[in-house]
Amino acid sequence: MKTSIKIGKLYGVPVRLHFTLIFVVALIAWSVGSNVFLIAEMLGIPDPNIAPGFESYILGVVVAVGLFVSVFIHEMAHSIVSIKSGFKVDEISLWLFGGVSKMEEMPTDPNLEIKISAVGPLSSIGLGVLAFVGGMLINQSIVVFILFYLSFINFFLAGFNLIPAFPMDGGRILRAILAKKYTYVKATKTAATIGKVFAVIFGIVGLFVNIFLILIAFFIYMAASQESESVLVKHMLSKVSVGDVMAKEVKTIGPETSLEDFLKMVTTHQHTGFPVVKGDKIIGIMTLKDAKKVSEQDIYITRVGDIMETDIVCLSPDDDASKAWDSMMKRGFGRFPVLKNGELVGIVTRSDIMQSFKIQTEMESLKQNDI
Ligand code: ZN
Repeated sequence: MKTSIKIGKLYGVPVRLHFTLIFVVALIAWSVGSNVFLIAEMLGIPDPNIAPGFESYILGVVVAVGLFVSVFIHEMAHSIVSIKSGFKVDEISLWLFGGVSKMEEMPTDPNLEIKISAVGPLSSIGLGVLAFVGGMLINQSIVVFILFYLSFINFFLAGFNLIPAFPMDGGRILRAILAKKYTYVKATKTAATIGKVFAVIFGIVGLFVNIFLILIAFFIYMAASQESESVLVKHMLSKVSVGDVMAKEVKTIGPETSLEDFLKMVTTHQHTGFPVVKGDKIIGIMTLKDAKKVSEQDIYITRVGDIMETDIVCLSPDDDASKAWDSMMKRGFGRFPVLKNGELVGIVTRSDIMQSFKIQTEMESLKQNDI
């Protein structure tokens, strides 16, 4: 199911809106609309000159949209600095809890991570100051209300994101600072633990204050666990090469192989997939998963070439095993032909990679090294 729509591209980065955004905009519009006078008093505007009812809800919609524009500018700031530093940003999506910039990989250089992480909150502070100064210069009370509200929101965004709860901006800055002193893995583990502690605190506070905070806490906890796990796996796998973990004996099949023969090979060789070769070129991979797409009566007339997976990633024996892990995670691939000078020299599967990770972890605990 498609849960978000693409609204355009900026600096080559697709910008998507998630459907949950509608609920938040509506929720903020409603809560601002029904508390206009209270908020105005808090913002120091004694007479906001707004009619209660319809007009105040329209005002609510305006500030809700303004809030997401602010979040968008915050995310854009992260993305622009990332792109200028040579990193690829897959997309920016605005959703229930604000914005997320999806990056292909995170910088491991601490100074760069500090730069990329800090620029978001800094841009929010900048926006907050701008809106505040604007509000001071203007006399029209409704506009003052909007500007002061957005100023407050931007300062809040900066402050909240700077809380050192990894993987929020402040947590990333903390990891980078730790990484200057310790190894990247240890810095990530520590930052993630602190992030989880914050998540638990947010969760408890949320119980009394706002249910939204409980959801945010949950996401921070999950993201902290996931990212520290992924850093650990990548670290372990970067110590082994694809050539070390690959199976050197590779059974191949041709596109003309019948599905029936393929299924026989699966049983006799105890492998769930085989590279498909035409001449001396790899043209695809055929797995049991592909075979499942065929209905029972078509098994005898289907050939491997009709249903094999043609979108494949080939590796070199000199590649890090972590490269295979990346392709496994991001694109869901489970089987990689290994080529040397264009010639098939081996195959790496998901289970080879997992096995290698397990062995590396055991070795590490044997050595009792500080990682
Ligand atoms: Zn940020």
